[in-house]
Amino acid sequence: MTQETARRDFIREMVARDVASGKFGRPVGTRFPPEPNGYPHIGHAKSICLNFGIAREFNGKVNLRFDDTNPSTEDVKYVEAIKEDIRWLGFQWDSELYASDYFEQLYEFAVVLVRKGKAYVDSETEEEIRQHRGTVTRPGTPSKYRDRPVEENLDLLERMRAGEFPDGAHVLRARIDLAHPNMIMRDPLLLRIRHAHHYRRGDAWCIYPLYDFAHGLSDAIEGITHSLCTLEFKDNREIYDWLVREVGFENPPEQTEFARLNIDYMVMSKRKLLRLVTEGQVRGWDDPRMPTLAGMRRRGVTPEAIRTFCDTIGVARAESRVELATFEHAVRDDLNLRVPRVLCVVKPLKVVLTNYPEGKSEELEAPYYPHDVPLTGSRMIPFSRELYIDRDDFMENPPRKFFRLAPGREVRLRYGYFITCTEVIKNPAGEIAELRCTYDPATKGGDAPDGRKVQGTIHWVSAAHAVACELRLYHRLFNVPDPDAVSEGRDFIAALNPESLVVVHDARIEPSVARDPVGSRYQFERTGYFISDVVDSRPGTLVFNRTVTLKDSWQKQKAKGA
Ligand code: ATP
Ligand code: MG
Repeated sequence: MTQETARRDFIREMVARDVASGKFGRPVGTRFPPEPNGYPHIGHAKSICLNFGIAREFNGKVNLRFDDTNPSTEDVKYVEAIKEDIRWLGFQWDSELYASDYFEQLYEFAVVLVRKGKAYVDSETEEEIRQHRGTVTRPGTPSKYRDRPVEENLDLLERMRAGEFPDGAHVLRARIDLAHPNMIMRDPLLLRIRHAHHYRRGDAWCIYPLYDFAHGLSDAIEGITHSLCTLEFKDNREIYDWLVREVGFENPPEQTEFARLNIDYMVMSKRKLLRLVTEGQVRGWDDPRMPTLAGMRRRGVTPEAIRTFCDTIGVARAESRVELATFEHAVRDDLNLRVPRVLCVVKPLKVVLTNYPEGKSEELEAPYYPHDVPLTGSRMIPFSRELYIDRDDFMENPPRKFFRLAPGREVRLRYGYFITCTEVIKNPAGEIAELRCTYDPATKGGDAPDGRKVQGTIHWVSAAHAVACELRLYHRLFNVPDPDAVSEGRDFIAALNPESLVVVHDARIEPSVARDPVGSRYQFERTGYFISDVVDSRPGTLVFNRTVTLKDSWQKQKAKGA
């Protein structure tokens, strides 16, 4: 077994016990069963890490099975996105399967159930069926079709399949118990007529299995041992067990539920994510603000960070929410050890070094990584008489504890020289337009030979050499920690943060990055982790997405009582 098993959870404990006892009499089999009706999100990543992880750790097999039994919402573009994202996360399935390939087999199972008197064709409408189902305290009432003779059921079922009836004319129901304490067991629907176009089956099929009928039996067909799903399916376990038993599978798979992943300030429901996309609240499924894997990838999050995060939060039986800080911590920790540091000025303020010769420039060597990162490499950065520093790194009347540049103050330019501000130039409106400074040629490399110290070190770029770029600064997509819980009547859309994207159009970055391919990641020193945008960035028009800030500014704000 691999190191990953070091972390045990109740599911892995269970699988280990089942392997030890030989309970299923076959290798461990898991599956990831997405419905191809949206892009995978970080919640799916948790399920993927679990299902693929367990198969790998226990030398089992894992199937990617598209749970594509609903013709109205599914699309092949989602199938492709799901495959791409699973591979990107670092996993490979053993078989790629489709529940829609089991329609014939499920039909045969339906025939088996009808023959055993365990299923019947009901000709009530779905609305009538709902009304007759009773309540938790009151048993349901049988439909007048419940005792249809087997032959009549078989005949109707065959004609349903042949397309003789319109939508809703009949349904196939399990024949279980209309007084069952579990409402799902009160003769649940198994098949319904839908004359709809299916993205894979076209118009060839018109009786569609309901989730409960398709899911467990698909697992059983594939020889799955451990069917892992989220807690909302807890009550469905009874019908799962009933179906695989009645159809006659030996050592059938068993369902185990775990808590779904929820992260503060995110929504995970594909239905809601689809609305964000179709209503234009974001720029698409891969908008870097989305909790989708495509969005996170475009934002610069690595698959390793997501896997580490999933490992850190673990697998539990009870619902909970994960703080955004926990996720961002995993992202930062991962990027810290892999990306080069470069200099980028977000809000440029011109600095003229009055004692630096006009027309001269020089190249300064700058390491890509700090000492505590086990990577090496450096590049040359141009230095000249005119520079840009960040506006926020200068204050005319600095409060105590502001250690950056101010009139008369000396600071260090990262990898460069000490400079002292001698004059503040303002425009007619009274705004600071430019700073005049002197530099000390003896401090090249960042230290003064006379041992004098400066309190601040700031980043900069050479005005003539720097490259203009666009920065996309992302903030939380929602204003409230649990957007799903927005009070009744109000829509989760109302909780959107109107400032989730702040675009900076005229940042200036050191020229070395212009050589790098799109999709390169960096730490912009003192600013954050960034990636050049794979869609919009090109030579001459650099666009960077902020993956994550350097520190958890939100926690800091909270600590201050903001
Ligand atoms: P959504 O609520 O986002 O629409 P879903 O459950 O309908 O999700 P599926 O495509 O059916 O989406 O999900 C595939 C698998 O991923 C299922 O086994 C499901 O339980 C699991 N899954 C979905 N959301 C989460 C989540 N937030 N955390 C953990 N697992 C999840
Ligand atoms: Mg689902």
